[in-house]
Parts: sequence; C-alpha cells; structure tokens
Amino acid sequence: MSEPPSQVSWANVRDEISRRIKKQQFDTWFRRVEAREVSSSRLDLEVPNEFIREWLQKYYLDTIRKAAEDVMRSRPQVTLRLPEGASATASDASASSSASTAHPSSVPALPVPASPVRTDPMRSGAEARLPLNPSYTFDHFVVGPSNRLAHAAALAVAEAPAQAYNPLFLHGAVGLGKTHLLQAICHHMLARAPRTDILYLSCETFVNSFIGALKSGSLDAFRRRHRTVGVLLVDDIHFLANKESTQEEFFHTFNELFDANRQIILSSDSSPMDIPTIEDRLVSRFKWGLVARIDKPNLETRVAILKQKAELRGSEIPDEVLAFVAKAVDTNIRELEGAVTKLIGSATLTARRINLALAREIFSDLLIEKRRHITIEDIQGAITARYSVKLSDLQSKRRSKSVTLPRQVCMFLARSLTDYSLEEIGGYFGGRDHTTVMYACDQIGGRVKRDAEFARMVEETTVQLRSGSRG
Ligand code: ADP
Ligand code: MG
Repeated sequence: MSEPPSQVSWANVRDEISRRIKKQQFDTWFRRVEAREVSSSRLDLEVPNEFIREWLQKYYLDTIRKAAEDVMRSRPQVTLRLPEGASATASDASASSSASTAHPSSVPALPVPASPVRTDPMRSGAEARLPLNPSYTFDHFVVGPSNRLAHAAALAVAEAPAQAYNPLFLHGAVGLGKTHLLQAICHHMLARAPRTDILYLSCETFVNSFIGALKSGSLDAFRRRHRTVGVLLVDDIHFLANKESTQEEFFHTFNELFDANRQIILSSDSSPMDIPTIEDRLVSRFKWGLVARIDKPNLETRVAILKQKAELRGSEIPDEVLAFVAKAVDTNIRELEGAVTKLIGSATLTARRINLALAREIFSDLLIEKRRHITIEDIQGAITARYSVKLSDLQSKRRSKSVTLPRQVCMFLARSLTDYSLEEIGGYFGGRDHTTVMYACDQIGGRVKRDAEFARMVEETTVQLRSGSRG
C-alpha cells in the first residue's frame, strides 16, 4: 500500500494496533478511543476517561507509537486527552462515534488540559459518567472457592436488581476484589439497561459530600441526589465508623431507598458486626439481605489470576513462573497484580525473557522473608504424632472424642496457617463441609482462650510447623 501519509486515518492505525495486541485488550482499552487530529507530526487521541488515559499512557504508548510509525511512515507525537469538558457534558463520549472522522480545524491547537473525571457522578446512568475502571468486569474476575459466593451474589443482583438480595453486603480484606465486583455490577447493569439510574461512590465521597452539603446549606440537593437513585453502591462503607451524623444520614438514605425497592450494594473491610462504632440499627440493616465474605485466594486461584493479568497486559508468562510467583505472593490480589507488573517491566527493561531465573531474581527478597509453606499434610503429620492417632482416623467419619479433638485441632491450624478455604480443609478430613470446619475453628479458638495448657500445645505445634522441624 502506498497511500500518502496525509490520507492515513486513525482507523488504519487502530487496525494496526488491533493486529498487535489481543482482542480482549483491544476491546478493553481501545474500543472508545477516537482521533482528534491526525497528521504526519501529530496523533491526538481522545479517550473516554482519566483511568483509561493513565492506563494507555503507562502500558500502550509504545504500541500506539509503533503502530503509527508503521502505518504513517512518520513519527507523530502521540497525545492522549480527555473529551473537552469531560465532566460537564454527558453525551460527549458517545456523540462522536466514527473513529475516522477527525475534524482538525475544529480542534484548538493546544491540547485542552485534562479535566478530572468526576468521582461523584450525576445520575445520568451513562457509563461514561461513572468513574468505572473498564477492566473491572465479571469477565475479568477469576472465580475460586474464596470468592465464589460473593461473585454469584453480585451477578444475581446485577441480573435482577432489588429482587435477589437487598442489600448485598460484600466484605473482605484489602485487595481481594470488593471494588472490582461492585464495578462489575455497574458494568453489567449498564450493559443490560444503559439508562439504569446508578449511583456508585466511595463512602469517603458520601461523607465528604454530606459534610459539604451541610456547610453550604445544600442538604436538600444532597438528599435528592442520594435518596432517589435506582441503584446505590457504596464502596468501603466501614469508613462510616466514628462518623455519627453521616451514619444518621446514611441510615435515612438506606431506608428510603430500601422502602422504594431500590437495590443497595455495600462493601466493607469487615463484616457488619465487626465495623467498630457503627450503630446497631445500621448493622442490622446491613444484614437484612445477603452478607458474603471474600477470602484470600488459594494457590490455584492465584495462578489463574496471574495468568489472566498477564494476558490483559499482552504477555504470556510460562506456567512454572506463574506457579513460582503465586507461591511467593500470597497476600492479596493487588500484590499479585504488582508482581505481574514488576515481572513484565523488568523483562522489557532488560530485554530479557520472562523465565524462572528472572522471577527468582526479582522476588528473591520476598522468598527469604516468606515463612515456610505449610501444607495440610504437615499439620496432619504433627497432630497424629502428638495425639497418637492414625491419619485414617482423622479422615474417617468416627466421632469419638479421642479422634474429634485432634481432627478439630488440625482444622484450626489449617485455617490459621494455610490459605485453604473452609471447603478445601473439610476435603482433607473425610469430605466434611465448611460448617463443620467453621465449628471446629470456633471450638478450638474458644478452648485456646480458656485453657492455658492447651493454648501452649497449640502454640508449640504452630512454632514447630513454621520452622519446618517435622521434615
Ligand atoms: P478491594 O476493593 O477489595 O481492596 P480491588 O477490587 O481493588 O480490592 O482489587 C484489587 C485488584 O485485584 C484489582 O486490580 C482487581 O481487578 C484485582 N482482582 C481482585 N479480585 C480479582 C479476581 N477474582 N480476578 C481478577 N482480578 C481480581
Ligand atoms: Mg476497594
């Protein structure tokens, strides 16, 4: 093709980009990118929101440059910017739809300063106006035993707002996917019904807008905004702790929405009962619908997540490296993502392939700090020796006291020393279900508190397992 460069449009560059990266990546990051100015010296692109802009800037600038170079046979300067008045006009992102119709003459010569994406969207229901991360979708959420219930509940609510569970309360430690699931619900609802009246905000935003409204005497507007939405999602609701007047306000917001049969979805770093200094009447409301906990992912899920995150970045990481990193990083999913970034970054920077040697170099300090990996077999070994019971007894259905106690101690230790889920632990003891394991943990936890002798035994076993002195 010997088209003169001036005739080359963004559509050509886009096609070239789509050939260079995976379809899923392309759909996620480039679908809504449009051209503002295309010439041999500049390629001005408009992206729908700040999040996408940062992401493209960080991970895809090179891809864009190279694709442009190839197609245009020149080296245009690539600029990424937000729609003019991104926070003021609703239909901006959808109004100009064809990627190839850039109107250079109507574009000011200097790039418009990027306006921040609103964090407190007005209730237009348009996806472009909610501060959503485009990759936080159900498609991109890896499901495992640790988050299966939360995922299923989120999907059910997204499919049938105010019919399945109301409210839906998701809780779990930091970095385990609460925000991802909340935003996945938004994406899903908007895909099904683009005009859904969704208000998604962090609790901090709720608190700050409330205080702002109090100060400026615009409480009526605040209430109109929050109490009439179709769907309300508040992320990190534990932020309400210690904020009495905002709790009061949220209580009324909750009641009005609930009475009007509007879906409410909340996330928190602890269960409703465990949020400190939150009023009982709120706690009880949070428990009205479904409370689902997200646990730390097990090894298998961590591998699946690493794999998916690498694919999203257009990298393939060999299985042995995935397994290695998943073992080294077992805190939360945000850290797993960080590990992928580090791996890909170092490989690119040093022009090396991603392999075990590279992973070992990068994560060596992590491994030294990391305590020995304890397995359930280790625990069973330690306990059968201490109590003189047989492994087959621990795995049997027998319920005599001489077997039940050591079995429960095993379950308790497995819960505190490994990251197996309740279901998985039950599986190691004759296929018992998660409620049995939970009961065992409660029993043993209680006895540890009451019985100093017993507590010492548990502590000793723990130290022994941690130091790996059983082989
Ligand atoms: P939280 O809100 O619980 O602190 P986030 O939702 O922000 O956690 O998740 C942290 C990061 O981990 C995000 O980038 C998110 O996409 C990712 N993540 C969490 N859970 C999953 C999952 N099950 N599958 C894929 N990515 C996940
Ligand atoms: Mg979060």
